[in-house]
Amino acid sequence: MSAASDDETFAALGLRAELLAALGTLGYEEPTPIQREAIPHLLNGRDLLGQAATGTGKTAAFTLPMLHRLRPERSTTAPFALVLVPTRELAVQVSEAVHRYGRDLGVRVLPIYGGQPIQRQVRTLERGVDVVVATPGRILDHLGRNTLALEAVEVVVLDEADEMLDMGFAEDIESILDTLPAGRQTVLFSATLAPRVDKIARRHLRDPIRITTRREAAAAGTVPRIRQQAYIVPRAHKPAALGRVLDVEAPTAAIVFGRTRDEVDQLTESLNGRGYRAEALHGGMSQEQRDRAMGRLRNGTADLVVATDVAARGLDIKQLTHVINYDVPASPDAYVHRIGRVGRAGREGVAITLAEPREHRMLSTIERVTKQRISVEQLPTVADLRARRLELTRAALEESILGDDLSGFRVVVESLTDEHDVMEVALAAVKLAHEASGAAAAEEDIPDVTSQVRRAEAGPRPPRERRSGSVPSTGMTRLFVGLGRSAGIRPQDLVGAITGESPVRGREIGAIEIADRFSLVEVPEAAADQVLAALRAGTIKGRKATVRRERDRPPRGS
Ligand code: AMP
Repeated sequence: MSAASDDETFAALGLRAELLAALGTLGYEEPTPIQREAIPHLLNGRDLLGQAATGTGKTAAFTLPMLHRLRPERSTTAPFALVLVPTRELAVQVSEAVHRYGRDLGVRVLPIYGGQPIQRQVRTLERGVDVVVATPGRILDHLGRNTLALEAVEVVVLDEADEMLDMGFAEDIESILDTLPAGRQTVLFSATLAPRVDKIARRHLRDPIRITTRREAAAAGTVPRIRQQAYIVPRAHKPAALGRVLDVEAPTAAIVFGRTRDEVDQLTESLNGRGYRAEALHGGMSQEQRDRAMGRLRNGTADLVVATDVAARGLDIKQLTHVINYDVPASPDAYVHRIGRVGRAGREGVAITLAEPREHRMLSTIERVTKQRISVEQLPTVADLRARRLELTRAALEESILGDDLSGFRVVVESLTDEHDVMEVALAAVKLAHEASGAAAAEEDIPDVTSQVRRAEAGPRPPRERRSGSVPSTGMTRLFVGLGRSAGIRPQDLVGAITGESPVRGREIGAIEIADRFSLVEVPEAAADQVLAALRAGTIKGRKATVRRERDRPPRGS
């Protein structure tokens, strides 16, 4: 078990000290494959075309080299870097990443997206900003008003380019890129390198380095007999989901993988709070501490270890039954290495991955590379969990009946059965035993987003047209928007407004119908209220619109 070897560190990539310090504080132990490949080229000023899904560490791959260029005491107030992203959600996330990595550099970053009052953005821009992270539509608004200067831009990044194109931003992107200084560095990341992505790359990137997920990676034949499963869980519910999965699986010995030292420490703490005996294992610990943790797992004093990839390298634990990926691993290789720790010597092992909705594409990439199926399942429900816990209590009682000397308790039962039925006595005893095992603890509800992701997975939607008067698709709700063709509304304006202001992504939006004076748009029922609130608070093409659920439709099936 060794730390990352020297040529695999962030320092070896040539990043400046302030960035290395920030990464150390965040508990990143080593670069992910995409970071290892991309960062040296980006530091050399090369353009880059990268195929990478969310979960690979692509944000840091383009942000770190960008920040490496930031000169202290820049005299200009105009941004030197521009990141274009498809949605408001991503604009905020990338801005947070820039801020996190660039804290010691004093970087000034501003997310810019529609719906937010433009004046506030203008005032911040006037004070001076180093990095702008924006949705394309809002950039054009600012350019039209002359409130954003792009002539100092040295680096432009198109993040999730395929998603931006799906949302109808192609023309907007082209015109922004045409405005930028010719000598700038251009970086494009996309989950797929579809022909339309390639077309933009051919026009706007100069002799780019190409990076794709390696296909030969994992040696598929070597993956042992393992039940591979995944659950799609929103970030906020992941700790509860992990607890539930562990409760239902009841592993003999498990290893839970986290991404960073911080995450490993936090998970260890929360699992111990849940009654597990968990040990942390990461590169920030001394060899002695790690040996002690491993010793506890081997002799059964601990049920599970929570580890980073680096700390778990070279570990061989014979009794391991489960590998749990708290996050999607950053590459198919990492996945194969992790899950290869179970299912040794012909025993069946279990590998479970918790993925965020945005990371579901990474799961497909892993499946493609390993040529093995990872079945996406619905998280065990509270009812499943209760049933499972009762089953465990039942098994414990049966074991006790068969194996324990119970004579010391006979007198209690006898005295109780003077007045009560034996069945009642047994019921009360089971209840107390069940509660004492901690199994009766309350459970929080975890929303099921699996079906939404499955729908998105089904691929590009058919053209956004439909017959008037039909019923919305299952799970979808149709919204009425009081602006139509006569106000110049196009489908991409609605898609832009919805994805810009709410968590709904482009491909989750269903049919759109544009009439002269109004439009109808289908959105996932689960997100309808959020979309309504967001559209009411914002504007579409600069105009306020009446927005409501479409009325007067007979319910489905009647
Ligand atoms: P991304 O694919 O850019 O969305 O990143 C996925 C997640 O991985 C984010 O939560 C990052 O904070 C985290 N991350 C990125 N690079 C590393 C790294 N080298 N080590 C650990 N975590 C990382």
